[in-house]
Amino acid sequence: MKTETSLQWKLVKYLLAFVIALLALLWLFQVVFLDSFYQRFKIEGIEKIGNTLAANLESDKLPDIVAQQARQNDACIRVLYGIFQIQTTNTMGCQIYNLNDSDIAQYVAKAEANGGSYLDIQSEKVISELPNGNLLFSNKQGSRNLIYFKVVEGRRNQKDIIMVNTHISPVNATTETLRTQLGYISMIVIVASVGLAFLMSRRIVKPIVNINQSARQMAEGNYDIVFTGKGYKEITQLNDTMNHTTRKLKEVDQMRRDLIANVSHDLRTPLTMISGYGEMMRDLPGENTPENVQVIIDEAHRLSNLVNDLLDLSKLQENKIELHAQHFDLTQLIETVLHRYEKFMTQDGFDIQFEHQESVWVNADPDRLGQVLYNFINNAINYSLEDKRILIRQSIDGTRVRVEVEDHGEGISEDKLSYIWDRYYKVDKTHKRSSAGSGIGLAIVREILELHHAQYGVKSEFGQGSVFWFELPIVPERES
Ligand code: ADP
Repeated sequence: MKTETSLQWKLVKYLLAFVIALLALLWLFQVVFLDSFYQRFKIEGIEKIGNTLAANLESDKLPDIVAQQARQNDACIRVLYGIFQIQTTNTMGCQIYNLNDSDIAQYVAKAEANGGSYLDIQSEKVISELPNGNLLFSNKQGSRNLIYFKVVEGRRNQKDIIMVNTHISPVNATTETLRTQLGYISMIVIVASVGLAFLMSRRIVKPIVNINQSARQMAEGNYDIVFTGKGYKEITQLNDTMNHTTRKLKEVDQMRRDLIANVSHDLRTPLTMISGYGEMMRDLPGENTPENVQVIIDEAHRLSNLVNDLLDLSKLQENKIELHAQHFDLTQLIETVLHRYEKFMTQDGFDIQFEHQESVWVNADPDRLGQVLYNFINNAINYSLEDKRILIRQSIDGTRVRVEVEDHGEGISEDKLSYIWDRYYKVDKTHKRSSAGSGIGLAIVREILELHHAQYGVKSEFGQGSVFWFELPIVPERES
């Protein structure tokens, strides 16, 4: 069962959740808490007036300050200090003007008990007359009267009294308007955000869907498919990667086909020889000669060499082979390897020379390096043609030793040079049967030298011969 939601729905969901959270926040602040915010704002205002006046009680400008504070804060103010009294003009019907001495005394007592100031929040009453003539006092919805008293110890131990009176008008009408507006805004924003999410997701999703379709075709084995998703950077990058992957897959697929063709070709030839010679020896008694048996043995060796090479290469490529690195005398290793070629020198007329000065020690896997040398020398012999001079040169370049195997044979043309290290690449596709070549020798060499982090390469000119080389860091000779 498919449980994942598509990107499109996810985007719509997230954007909707975000918009709803935003609207809810707006609703809370604008509608639900508006009244309490407003009241708090008013209370803070009234306390500020009290503090400002308390700080300026001694000032000559007190009357001006009183007038200014009253105007700015829309409040009534009355200040009693000593025998003086300042009060704003009674325009708003403020209650503090009507307080008698005992009311004032009560408030002062409450303020003193409360640490110097006291705030009285009263619901404003509406008086309405009932049909029977009685008066009904009811609360005026949301409307409040704030009376603030501040008692300050003045000069000569007298108490100065600051009275501030202001109203909180009902916010019901405002919240009602805001609620309606918010309703409209919510609808518009939700519809718009859903639309936007769909549009956005289409832009994001469409190229992904395209790429997915192409990838499916690629999975079916169609490597000629071209990925065309574009629109934004990540998609273009994915697109490029997919195109690159297709190219690589195509190459690998081609190599796989070549490999199968080449391996089966190389397997078939010795197998045909073995069965052919075998049958001939069975049917014709006179053919049962040691030479013919030798042919069968040689061909069987060729087969096992080929299989071994293939196994070796695949192990090397899967990093399953560990190097057994040790300090050893590279010069001596080269000499040992060359010793095995003495047969070629005498029988086939090869002239193999080793040019070197002092012995050089390296830290490497001697068996694997031997394999590299065998490959280079075998190739030099196989592709030598008439000129059978082969030169192995060991030279020192600073801290590194360079080993070169030089032949004067057929050489390799420049356009083929970069391919010869590939698995099963043969310059000559006609598969000339050579004594040692299995077609994957240089691929093995490359893996081995790369495992050693060695530098390696080839210089070659078609018709002139080739120089295959590698370089390794020299290590000091071990005293044993
Ligand atoms: P092979 O078993 O065919 O020699 P390799 O992997 O050792 O396989 O070499 C790959 C190809 O590189 C060879 O088929 C050959 O065409 C070319 N090559 C390798 N060494 C030489 C050389 N010394 N001179 C000319 N061509 C060479």
